[in-house]
Amino acid sequence: MSLSDLKEWLYGCTHCGTCKEVLNIFAPACPSGEMYRLESYYPSGKMLIARGVTSGALTLDDEVLERIYACTGCLSCEQQCGVYHHQHIFEVVQALRTEAVTHGYLNPAYMIMVDSLKKDDNVFGKPKAERGDWAKEIEIKDASQENVEIIYHAGCMLSFDPELWNIPQSAINIMKATGADVGIMGMEESCCGGRAYEIGYIGEFTKYAEHCIETFNSLGASTVLTSCSDGYSTFKKLYPNTGIEMKFEPLHMVEYIDRLISDGKLKFTKKLPMKVTYHDPCHLGRHLGDGGVYDAPRKILQSIPGIELVEMVRSRENAWCCGAGAGVSQANPELALWTANERLKEARATGASALVTACPWCVRNFRDTVKEYGEDIKIYDISEIVKKAL
Ligand code: SF4
Ligand code: SF4
Repeated sequence: MSLSDLKEWLYGCTHCGTCKEVLNIFAPACPSGEMYRLESYYPSGKMLIARGVTSGALTLDDEVLERIYACTGCLSCEQQCGVYHHQHIFEVVQALRTEAVTHGYLNPAYMIMVDSLKKDDNVFGKPKAERGDWAKEIEIKDASQENVEIIYHAGCMLSFDPELWNIPQSAINIMKATGADVGIMGMEESCCGGRAYEIGYIGEFTKYAEHCIETFNSLGASTVLTSCSDGYSTFKKLYPNTGIEMKFEPLHMVEYIDRLISDGKLKFTKKLPMKVTYHDPCHLGRHLGDGGVYDAPRKILQSIPGIELVEMVRSRENAWCCGAGAGVSQANPELALWTANERLKEARATGASALVTACPWCVRNFRDTVKEYGEDIKIYDISEIVKKAL
C-alpha cells in the first residue's frame, strides 16, 4: 500500500511508547531505537516521520532516509502495540521506503542488490549459474526437468554462502533418509522477492512473486519446502496478495521435520549432550501472525536425546530480533551486528553453549557477530542439529 493509503494508521499512533518495551518483562523491544537512543529511531518516531512526509512538512532527505532504513522489520513493535492499539508500523516503514524508491531517493547500499536481481535473480551480486553449486556433491533430482512431490527452495542466502551450505545439505540428507521425493531447481531457482519488498522495490517483488508462483504451479509439486524463514514468510504472507492461485503448500523445514517426528518417520540414533537455546526468527514467528511457528522447533529439539532446551527471557512472540532483517545486514551492518550481540548476551545468560535457529539470515548474522564481538557460543541451524542426531 502507498503512504497515502495508510493515513488512518499514522494518526492512530497515540505516542504512548508501549512499543518500546516487551510488556510485563520491561525489556527493550526495538533494535533501532535501542541502538541509537533517539526518538526518531523508535517506532513512534517513525510514525511521526511518516506523518511529516505525508503532510509535506518533511522531505525524504538523508536524515529521514537513514531512520527509515534503520529498521529490521522485526515487528516486535507491532507485537507490543497490538495489545492496545493494533498499529501497522512496519507497513508504514515499508511504504516510506517505497515512496523513497518511487521518487528516486535510492539507498546506494541497495544498488548492488537491485542490479544483481535484474541481472542474476539473486540479492548478492553472484552469477546465476552458481545458484545450485551447494548441491554439486549431492545426488538429487532436478525439479525443473522431472516431476517431484517436494521442491526444496534454497533461497539466495543458502545458495551463495558456501559457509552455510551444510544447512541445505543437512536438510536434503534428512529428507533422503526418510524417503522423500524431493528435487531442487538449481540454477533455474530464483530469488523469492521478499527482500525487494522490504526495501521498497515493489515492482521487483511483484515480478519475482508472479514468476515463482507460476513456475511452482507449472511443475506440479505438492509442496515447496525451504529452510529460509524470510522466503517462507514471503511465500506464505506476501504471495497471496498477488491474487494468483497457489497450487502448492509452502512449508518450512521445521514444520516438515516436526511432521516426520509425529508420523514416526524420523528416529534419532545418536545422543547429543548439549544445552541449547532457541532463537525465534521474526519471519517464522511474528511475521506470520496467528500462524507463527513457535512450537515445532522446540518439539524437535526436545525430542533429540541428550539436548536440554533452555529459554531466553524474550522468546516466541516477544523474541529480540537477530538484526539482519529488511535489508539492514546489507545497508547498516553496524546495527545488524549490535542487535545480534544483544541477543547473544541474552543467549549466554541462559547457560546454553549453543544457539539454534531456523533461518540462514539469522545464522549468518550471529556467526558474523561471534567473530566481531567474541561472545563464546556456537550457532546452528536446526537441520544441522537434527542431521547430527540421525
Ligand atoms: S506505535 Fe503503538 S505502541 Fe507505539 S507509540 Fe504508537 S500507538 Fe503507542
Ligand atoms: S520493526 Fe523492529 S526495528 Fe523496526 S521499528 Fe519496529 S521494533 Fe523497531
